[in-house]
Amino acid sequence: QGQGDYRILHEADLRAYLAGLPDLKELLGGEPASWAITEVGDGNLNLVFIVKGARGGIAVKQALPYVRLVGESWPLPLSRAHYEYLALSRQAQLAPGLVPAVLHHNEDLALTAMELLEPHIIMRKGLVAATRYPRFVDDITTFMARTLFFTSDLALTAAEKKEAIAAFAGNHALCKITEDLIFTDPYRVAEQNRWTAPYLDGLAASLRDDMDLHVAVSRLKLKFMASPEALIHGDLHTGSIMVTDSQTRVIDPEFAFYGPMGFDVGAVLANLLMAFFASAGHERAPGERAAFEAWVLETVEQVWNQFARKFLDLWRAAAAGDAYPPSLFPGEKGAARLETERQAYMQRLFTDVVGFAAAKIIRRIFGLAHNIDFELIEPPKRRAVSEARAVGLARAMMVETGAFPSIADVIGAAQKLR
Ligand code: ADP
Ligand code: MG
Ligand code: MG
Ligand code: MG
Repeated sequence: QGQGDYRILHEADLRAYLAGLPDLKELLGGEPASWAITEVGDGNLNLVFIVKGARGGIAVKQALPYVRLVGESWPLPLSRAHYEYLALSRQAQLAPGLVPAVLHHNEDLALTAMELLEPHIIMRKGLVAATRYPRFVDDITTFMARTLFFTSDLALTAAEKKEAIAAFAGNHALCKITEDLIFTDPYRVAEQNRWTAPYLDGLAASLRDDMDLHVAVSRLKLKFMASPEALIHGDLHTGSIMVTDSQTRVIDPEFAFYGPMGFDVGAVLANLLMAFFASAGHERAPGERAAFEAWVLETVEQVWNQFARKFLDLWRAAAAGDAYPPSLFPGEKGAARLETERQAYMQRLFTDVVGFAAAKIIRRIFGLAHNIDFELIEPPKRRAVSEARAVGLARAMMVETGAFPSIADVIGAAQKLR
């Protein structure tokens, strides 16, 4: 990838650049000088501009050659913009209407212009405000079932699958962030770690000393590194989902690569479970958020159940891949045995989901990147109560995964800890 023409686009450069693109100029409308340009990036890595003209608006995302949250001391390849563009394009084919449409991409500038999502808000913000999203379960389970199934060996030939793995294999710097920040640092002394001190000091120390936990998280890390099951989003938390009452859009797939499916499903469940535990810290009167909390747990259950149902339906209807050759499962006897195996496959996937969800919770409480669900709880002593409950569940899910054979077991344990 030639990076010779890369430059960070500030407002004036972006205006001039967009003015030179006839399709976008037309979409925005009016004179370029009249366009309103605001940088709204609240993520950890990149710049995002909202551009509004007389006719329409767009969002423009540009990668920086370093991690925005940390600064130039932590370089990060611009190529992540290429993988985000590739993933967005693939997801748009597989799950139409559930990602922002790509309008323009420039490899040298590591820049993508996309559909402006408005009035959508980042789902995490809505959850802090106890907002319920009636479309969420159906949309997110369609997104996950279709993007994961159709990029797996259940749907692709072996050749297609290996070409697809290769197309994303260069995104290893982003994988390394996950490998370090999620699967390693929270369990050892690391400069980037932080937690709600002094209240969680003891819990942080116990995590560093817990060899059963270290084995469990290392198995998950190995699975993340060595299981190219499907094209995963790789960062599917509630800060990567934008919502209204009637729409759901998944953004920010720059961590995409061929990895374990359970990582994406686990990310969604982990973030819902954190919203549940954080909710107690946001209530101003006892029980004030009870209906919201019940909705969150119902959503946890439905996300797994509807995902599993949709994934299985696709497998039964659209299995064109080289895995499970039909010739090995002939007749009624074969069909029955294959159906039993499909159920067993989902059970194995559920085990991965439980473990990955736990890892995603622990990293948000002891690692570098925290989330507003907990961070907005004041005072810190109160925040630590919610965080400790979430850690209690996460530790059990990671080490005693067998005690959570179904989603109902996860919900039951969460209710007990509330
Ligand atoms: P990062 O990779 O830095 O986390 P994101 O892709 O998550 O960047 O975008 C950062 C923020 O920019 C989002 O939280 C959201 O507020 C805003 N944003 C991103 N894409 C769009 C879009 N298509 N429409 C409207 N706002 C967007
Ligand atoms: Mg983001
Ligand atoms: Mg992020
Ligand atoms: Mg991102």
